[in-house]
Amino acid sequence: MRLFAAILISLFIGCPVAAQGGAADLVILNADVRTIDLKRPRATAVAVKGGRIVFVGGDAEARNYIGEGTRVIDASGKSAIPGFNDSHVHFMAIGNKFSSLNARELQRPEEFYEQLRFYVRFLPKGRWILGSGASRELVANLKAAEIDRITPENPLFIYAADPSEAIANSAARKLAGLSDSKDSVTVREIDLARIARVVPTDHIRRWAEIAETASNYAASYGITSVQDTDSDARADVYRELDAAGRLKTRIYDCSSLSGWFAKQTPPLREAPEKMVRTGCLKGFHDGEDEWTPRLREQVLAADKAGWQVAVHAIGSKPNSIVLDIFEQAIKANGKLDRRFRIEHAEGIIARDLRRLGELGVIASIQPHLFGRGGYSSGYYGDMVKNGAIAALGSDAPMTAFDPLLGLNIRDTGNGFSFLDSIQGYSAGSAFAEFAEAEKGKLLPGMLADIVILSQNIFASSDLRISGAKVEMTIVDGEVVYERNNTEK
Ligand SMILES: [Zn+2]
Repeated sequence: MRLFAAILISLFIGCPVAAQGGAADLVILNADVRTIDLKRPRATAVAVKGGRIVFVGGDAEARNYIGEGTRVIDASGKSAIPGFNDSHVHFMAIGNKFSSLNARELQRPEEFYEQLRFYVRFLPKGRWILGSGASRELVANLKAAEIDRITPENPLFIYAADPSEAIANSAARKLAGLSDSKDSVTVREIDLARIARVVPTDHIRRWAEIAETASNYAASYGITSVQDTDSDARADVYRELDAAGRLKTRIYDCSSLSGWFAKQTPPLREAPEKMVRTGCLKGFHDGEDEWTPRLREQVLAADKAGWQVAVHAIGSKPNSIVLDIFEQAIKANGKLDRRFRIEHAEGIIARDLRRLGELGVIASIQPHLFGRGGYSSGYYGDMVKNGAIAALGSDAPMTAFDPLLGLNIRDTGNGFSFLDSIQGYSAGSAFAEFAEAEKGKLLPGMLADIVILSQNIFASSDLRISGAKVEMTIVDGEVVYERNNTEK
């Protein structure tokens, strides 16, 4: 019996990984892990397998998950938190920011090269770099070989301030049947016309390329999920991109409430772990009274049909009206897990702050868009104190996409802490899209969407955090962005 026990023990010590059902794909060690889970708020290690988190805890135990094929990341004490979930973006517009390059402001060649490097980091291979406004001085100092070195896989065609001349790289020349750029930076006349003819006429509507650009850009900011509150309804493009293995961002795609009202289709019930989901309709109220009856009719119908309704409201009156409509819908359609949302909820008055909580309405807020007033005045704190769920986002490209800019860096003691703001950008946003059982926290069983930052942001002073960057972004257990090589 004793011998049997000894054999059993040695078996477990000999192959702990096998005993646990196989090695993990990825193990993060030596991190300051903030799980955003109240019961187990902190850990140092996370193990990931098959796109899911299989372990959160201490380094010693995590080592049991390391096998031959496991990628081990030593985070050197830096912060590891759930991937950011931006609850309010216009995703295609973010990608389309990279559809043209304004060279007007770029004086020196190095500035121009830097801008090219920035674009190339996010653009899919083959996507054109188009633009205009390059000054004569800039053009005169550029080197064709350097442009080619930076942009080997993206054809480039940027008009000079004098549009009878344009900068063209070798990739663009090749597509037009011209010889390599050699030493000449620009083209004119017939050569210019030949390149202009091969530029895709639908450049700003190549949605898959544009979405891929936005997704690459999101990954660089640690954003693993977005809620596309633009009404452009591009879920099919996102699905296509996902099927091609090129989507690095989970997308909850909203479409237009008034557009839906004309058709009245039932919502699709997609599993919350899917990369692309729909289910949300976006409406709008700007305070004009004549709009109220129509919005009410639409909200009631969409709510009855089982759609989630999100309504844009800025200012005290629109927020009050939208809450009135939500209240009427709840009365008319009965108790449901409906999760009404107000997009922005800026300028909401105290009485309505309370109603947010009473009615269970999600406040989808953008601290960086509206300044830090919500943090410092205590308005966000009051929101949460009154039982509202805050989902944080950016409204990019109206403002910068970087979630670190939207965090409450300085704890003002007004009831909405730094940690609350991180939670609003993860668990809060996950709740706002019915996905809180799958993401927004670092817990075993949840989707492996994780971000590692360049420092321990909890240990940093205000100044240092402003320099914090995203070191690594993990989506579905895959490393989709890496700033430096942090592996050992
Ligand atoms: Zn918006």
